[in-house]
Amino acid sequence: MAGHAVSGVRLGTPLSDGATRVLLLGGGELGKEVAIELQRLGAEVVVADRYPNAPAMQVAHRSHVIDMLDADALRAVLAAERPHVVVPEIEAIATHVLLESEQAGTRVVPTARATRLTMDREGIRRLAAEELGLPTSPYRFVDSVDELAAAVDAVGLPCVVKPVMSSSGKGQSVVRTREDVEPAWRYAQTGGRAAAAGDVRVIVEGFVAFDTEITLLTVRHSGGTTFCDPIGHVQVDGDYRESWQPAALPPGVLETAQDVARSVTDALGGWGVFGVELFVVGDQVLFSEVSPRPHDTGLVTLVSQDLSEFALHARALLGLPAGEVLRLGGRDQAAAASCAVLAEGEGVPVFDGVDAALAVPTAQVRLFGKPSVSGRRRVAVTLARGADVDEARARAVEAATAMRVGLD
Ligand code: AMP
Repeated sequence: MAGHAVSGVRLGTPLSDGATRVLLLGGGELGKEVAIELQRLGAEVVVADRYPNAPAMQVAHRSHVIDMLDADALRAVLAAERPHVVVPEIEAIATHVLLESEQAGTRVVPTARATRLTMDREGIRRLAAEELGLPTSPYRFVDSVDELAAAVDAVGLPCVVKPVMSSSGKGQSVVRTREDVEPAWRYAQTGGRAAAAGDVRVIVEGFVAFDTEITLLTVRHSGGTTFCDPIGHVQVDGDYRESWQPAALPPGVLETAQDVARSVTDALGGWGVFGVELFVVGDQVLFSEVSPRPHDTGLVTLVSQDLSEFALHARALLGLPAGEVLRLGGRDQAAAASCAVLAEGEGVPVFDGVDAALAVPTAQVRLFGKPSVSGRRRVAVTLARGADVDEARARAVEAATAMRVGLD
C-alpha cells in the first residue's frame, strides 16, 4: 500500500517495542475468551488475578497474581506493564487506581467512572433510576436490620434483599413474610464480597414477577452502538444456568429494551460490550443492572453470532468498529443455547463423557481450565444450535448432562 496515507488505529506486534499492551484485571472464563480474541488481533495480553493459572492466564503472554483490591499491588503491576488498555473483568478492583491510570492517559474499559459506578449495586441503580429516570423495581438501601424492616414495609412483600457489593446471587434472598427479614439480613452479611471488611449495606428491591428476563448485549464502539439479539436466561439462586438467543419478546418490547440499554450505556460511556440486564413484564421493560463487560449469559454468542461478545469486546476496546453482527445458521439452526456445567466439592476438575456430549447434534463444549474447585463453581459450558430455542436448549442441556465432572 506504499504511497497511500493510512489513518486510524495502529496495532503493534506482541513482544516488540511497538506492541499494543492490554492488561486484563480478572482472568476467568470470560476473560479467557477476551484474551483469545485480543491475541487474534495481535495484542500483547497480560492477565492479573488473585490465583495462579487462572483460565485467561493460560492464553496470555504474561500474568501476575495479585489482590486487585490492593491499590499498591495494582499500581505495581501497572508500573511494570505500562498497558495501553486496562480491561476490568471483575467488580472487586481498587477502582480509584483505575481513575489515576486513566488520568495518566491509559484507556480504561469502558471508562474508570463506569467501572466505579458498576462496582456496587448502589451507584448504577441510582444512576439508572434517579438520574436517567429509567423504570426499575422499587428499592431502598439500608444499613441495619431495623432499617431493613422499615424498608420492607415501604417496598412491599415479597421483596429481594442483596448485599450492594455482590453478584451471582451471593448473599441474596427473597423476603416473603416479616419473619424472613432477620434471616435475610444475616444471610446478606455473610454472602457479599465486602462482608469481611464490615460493609453491611444492602439493597431491598420489590420482587418483579417478570415474564422474561433478558440480557441485551450492547456494544459501544468507534463506529457507534450495536445491539445483539436479546438473550433469555434461567438463573438458579441468582446464578446463570442456561441462556439462549434470540429471546422472544412481545411486539415493540425490543425497541423499548434498546432505548433503555442505549440510555444507560451512553451515560456510562467509553468503548466495549455491556451486558444490560432487563426484566420484561407485559410490554414494560425494567432496568435491573448492567455489567460494563461481556456477560456470562452471553457465552451463547460463541455459537450464535459470527462475532461473539468476546470478539466484539476486543474490537471495541482497541478502538475498532464492531462491524455488523451476523446471526449464524439457517432456518434449521435459527436459535442457539448454552448450559453451564458446575462442579461441587474440593479438587481439580476431570471431565468424563466429553465424547458423549459432542455426539449431541451441533453441540460444542468449552472447558475453562479452572485449576481447582472449592465449593460450587462453573467449570465448563455446553453450546448448541437448533431450529428454535426449545431445540437448542434441549441439545445444550443434553450435552451438559452427558458430561461428568469429577474432582481429583
Ligand atoms: P442479580 O444478581 O441482581 O442479577 O440477581 C440475580 C437473579 O435474581 C436475577 O437474574 C433474577 O433472576 C433474580 N432477581 C434479582 N432481582 C430480582 C427482583 N427484584 N425481582 C425478581 N427477581 C429478581
